[in-house]
Order: sequence, then structure tokens, then C-alpha cells
Amino acid sequence: MLYPRDSLKNTAAAGISEGYETFLSLCAHELFHTWHVKRIKPNVMVNPSLTLENYTNQLWIYEGFTSFYDDATLVRTGIIPAQSYANILAKNITRLLRNPGRVDQSISRSSFEAWTKFYKQTPDSTNFIVSYYNKGGLAALCLDIVLLQQSNGQANLDTVMRLLWEHYGVDEVGTPDHVIELLCKQYLNINVESIVHQLAHSTIDLPLPTLLPTIGLRLAVRPAIDVNDKGGISKATPCPVAFGAMYSANPVGIKLTQVLIGSPVACAGMSRDDILIAMANYEVSQSNLINLLTRFTQQASVELTWLRDGRLCTGTMPIQSALCDTAEVHVMDEAKFNAWAQRTLTFPE
Ligand SMILES: [Zn+2]
Repeated sequence: MLYPRDSLKNTAAAGISEGYETFLSLCAHELFHTWHVKRIKPNVMVNPSLTLENYTNQLWIYEGFTSFYDDATLVRTGIIPAQSYANILAKNITRLLRNPGRVDQSISRSSFEAWTKFYKQTPDSTNFIVSYYNKGGLAALCLDIVLLQQSNGQANLDTVMRLLWEHYGVDEVGTPDHVIELLCKQYLNINVESIVHQLAHSTIDLPLPTLLPTIGLRLAVRPAIDVNDKGGISKATPCPVAFGAMYSANPVGIKLTQVLIGSPVACAGMSRDDILIAMANYEVSQSNLINLLTRFTQQASVELTWLRDGRLCTGTMPIQSALCDTAEVHVMDEAKFNAWAQRTLTFPE
């Protein structure tokens, strides 16, 4: 595992830095794979031909569940406090909200297309594909809460992991596509077919706003503060005008590194790698873009000027209200959250 040294534990500083938190989460992720992927695995991965691509719909179960357990382990073991876990969730939800591909592709489809799409990504891929890691981890959290609800607190995702181990992991029997529905029905007498369909096989948004309050958390959404805002609680005032691209500083203007499909800047005609140099003839820079956008709040549109391959281009960008694509997760009921995070493992009979 490779990791930047400045994100490792700084013994001179109090608490845990965000970089070290991510490092610990990554360690938990890879350790979890010792069971979940190395032993419990999809049926096509039991005796795979290493010379062929092996297709499976199930990566959302493997990378998704593991992505859920990596962060959840940090709060369940007391390494990070409740609000830090809530902030991690907020960032994961923000990533999903800013991923236009989530309305085109389900996570089971994304699993199947890992060979042809997920591992052949370009900067525009976010417009067409969804991550079975990112959405898969959040779907696992939803499934955990639904199982708690449907079993009156007697079962949760841990119970399903235990069943996966007993029935598929111990003897390294590969899992079929509908393994979660099968195990829940057969051993817990819970029908999860419709919720699994929604979470894994559809592009309907995850039911996080209604599920999170049952574990003491509240989800709120707001526009981004700036290009560095990855989600989480902020008291700063968001930019009221939508832009719709990621960008980096350039000696002149800003260089677009990713343009979201259907966004105002895409409507103006701009694409990735274009260099935006002016807005209504005012020079644009990384530091003044938000300020400039805010000036045009009351207008219907604004003229953009950019460079593409050394040629000057112009286009009209419609002024639209900023999208609420940034999540905040608040710990509203600490006792309820702790009951979820500090639960004891329940094992099936
Ligand atoms: Zn993994």
C-alpha cells in the first residue's frame, strides 16, 4: 500500500488529521478484504481464468460493503468521534450528488461494466458511470438500517456478513448474484428484494434522508462554497450561481478539468481543457471566479470568453441557481447514534 508520508500520524499534533483518518480507513478496507473477497467471493471469481476478463454484477456487494465497513470500523472502535464519521458520510454523499452518471447506471451495472468502463475512465466518465465503491458503501449503510428496522433491531448488515461467511466463505463457495436476498429470506425471514432492487439495480436516489434520522443523523444539502468544498458542515455563504465544472489555476484564467453534462458552463459551449479567461469581459482567475459569478445573480445570462487550442471562443452561459449538491450530516441524537455505532454483534441461531 502506497501513501503520502505527510498523511501518516503526526505524534506532535493532538487528535487525528483527515489524512491519517483516510489512511486508517484504507487499512481497515484492505484488512476486511482478507475475508470479504479473498474468502467470500462472487461465483465467477472462485476458479477464474487469469487470461480472461471475468464479469460479475456483484462488485457493489464486495467493494461497496467493504467501503461501508472501512469508515464504520473507525467510529465503532472509538478511533474517531460521531461527528467525524458524519463528516465522512457527508463527503461520500456529496461525491454521489455530484456524479451525474448515477442517473444513468446502477451499481450492479457498474459492477458488470468494471472491465469496460470503471477501469477505463476519462475525466468525463463521471457523467456516465457511478462508483460501486462510493454508492455501494452508502447502499450498504441503507441496507444495514433497513435490516435493523425490519428485524426490530435483531439483525443488521453484520448478521448478513456472518451468514455470507458461514455459507460461502468457509468452504469458498462463490456467491450467486442474488445472495443477499437469498440469505435474508432463508435465515432471517426478511424479504429485502424490493430494497435491494432500489439500492443496487435501479438509479433511484438512495433513501438516506429518511433512513439517517433512525440512527440519530440528519442529512442537509446546500450549494458548494467553492471548488475545494467536498462537503461537511460549513458556516460560509455558498455561491448562489451555478457553474458546473471543476477547474484549476492557469497562468491566464482557469483551466476546466471536468465539465458536468447539462451544466451552465456546458450550455455556453465549454469543454474540458478549455481555458476560461473572461466573464462579461472581466478577467477570470481561480481567486475571483466565485465573486464574479455572484455579480451576475440578477441577470439571465453572461458572456464567456475562453481559449481552445490557441483559438479565442465565446459563448453565452445561462445564469441558474446553484445546485444543492453538497451534503452536511449532523449528529442530532448522540444516544441514538451511539446505540447504532456501539452495537454488539448478533449471530443467527
Ligand atoms: Zn476494495
